[in-house]
Amino acid sequence: MPDETLKSQKLKTTKRREAILEILRASTKPMTTEEIYMQVLQEVHMSISTAYRTLATLSDKQILIKELGQDGKTYFRINDHRHRHFLRCVCCGETILLDGCPIEKLEKDWAEKTGYQITGHSLEVSGICPKCAAKGGKKSHAK
Ligand SMILES: [Zn+2]
Ligand SMILES: [Zn+2]
Repeated sequence: MPDETLKSQKLKTTKRREAILEILRASTKPMTTEEIYMQVLQEVHMSISTAYRTLATLSDKQILIKELGQDGKTYFRINDHRHRHFLRCVCCGETILLDGCPIEKLEKDWAEKTGYQITGHSLEVSGICPKCAAKGGKKSHAK
């Protein structure tokens, strides 16, 4: 959506927006509102509702990507226009970046079959990390 991107450049630069963007730029994984909020408090003062509002504005403007995780929490990450998928540990929440995307090839196929213009997809892969598996995470946490 190119007009959204244009609009995003007209967003006023505020300390709060900058602080949130800085935190997410430094993060290698998507973060929940609470995680972002806890870190942002070390930089600037803001209420949790301001944090929610700022995150909503930034994702409306496509500066951030907002995704619903399988754990039911909302995660935010910087929209760096790179398509990526994450693997999340269901026990400790550790999240790692996966290489490549198996779905991009399928999208073309699906577009042809359905006549849809496919604009995107999200995919989160979950599992148990080696650390949790060693602690017996499988037994206590597997669905
Ligand atoms: Zn884990
Ligand atoms: Zn993908």
